[in-house]
Amino acid sequence: MNVQKIMVIGAGQMGSGIAQVCAMAGYDVTLHDLKPEFVERGLGTINKNLSRQVEKGRMSEDDKLSIVNRISSSTELSNAGGVDLVIEAAVENMNIKKKIFEQLDEITPAHTILATNTSSLPITEIAAVTKRPEQVIGMHFMNPVPVMKLVEIIRGLATTDEVYNTIEEITRKLEKVPVEVNDFPGFVSNRILMPMINEAIYTVYEGVASPEAIDEVMKLGMNHPMGPLTLADFIGLDTCLYIMETLHEGFGDDKYRPCPLLRKYVKAGWLGRKTGRGFYSYE
Ligand code: NAD
Repeated sequence: MNVQKIMVIGAGQMGSGIAQVCAMAGYDVTLHDLKPEFVERGLGTINKNLSRQVEKGRMSEDDKLSIVNRISSSTELSNAGGVDLVIEAAVENMNIKKKIFEQLDEITPAHTILATNTSSLPITEIAAVTKRPEQVIGMHFMNPVPVMKLVEIIRGLATTDEVYNTIEEITRKLEKVPVEVNDFPGFVSNRILMPMINEAIYTVYEGVASPEAIDEVMKLGMNHPMGPLTLADFIGLDTCLYIMETLHEGFGDDKYRPCPLLRKYVKAGWLGRKTGRGFYSYE
């Protein structure tokens, strides 16, 4: 299937990165969010990332300009009317994602593939709200998207081989490495990573050690490049909580219960790096 035009929904941390790598690979990209200022913020991040590449001599100013010019802004979902692929990267909330996919199913042409960057939610359940479940697929990028090589690709129950192969090919064109995984809560990455982060939060909650000490133990003792609490702040504590809730509900096993301290931070609006405060301060 020939994909040329891509819409990315959600211009946050992930959506802006996905839009950037798609434009860098030569696709025409529409970056969509709820408000113009959200799209602007995403475009600002892309601009900053590309300028850094120019400063380091890895990209010419002309190349940067043509990449930026391939990205247009949108706050109307009807702009999905002419695209071949949608990659949804709005918040990790099943009801919001279902609403978006229902609308996309009405708006987009019959050939359009609908992909979601969900970190943990069942692809099959999202696909079921559309009349084209065979064209719905999970495309789980890692954060920060321009740097991280992995994309987990997750088929829903009905996803066809043709759609899977198209998405695998696009992933390679984005200079990423596709890994196929099955549709279980958290897939592979977050089924393993998030319980570790949640346990690190319990370790703070129970007063075993400070966030700094916990991160130091995991970095120096386990050779992790980043401690779990620094990583949680980087991912976003709201996203961490949504993922733990999905694992808890999806497996029905209390070993996945989110730590009360994680809930408290999210209620306080301490969402990590993106709000300036989480386990650490970023003012
Ligand atoms: P974020 O909070 O940085 O950005 C989310 C964006 O979605 C915001 O700009 C918000 O305005 C927008 N949005 C919310 N509802 C919308 C709607 N109905 N229509 C259009 N836009 C809407 O979050 P993020 O970290 O970029 O995460 C986005 C998705 O990517 C989530 O599903 C998350 O689980 C997944 N993900 C996150 C990470 C990570 O490390 N943060 C990694 C992989 C996947």
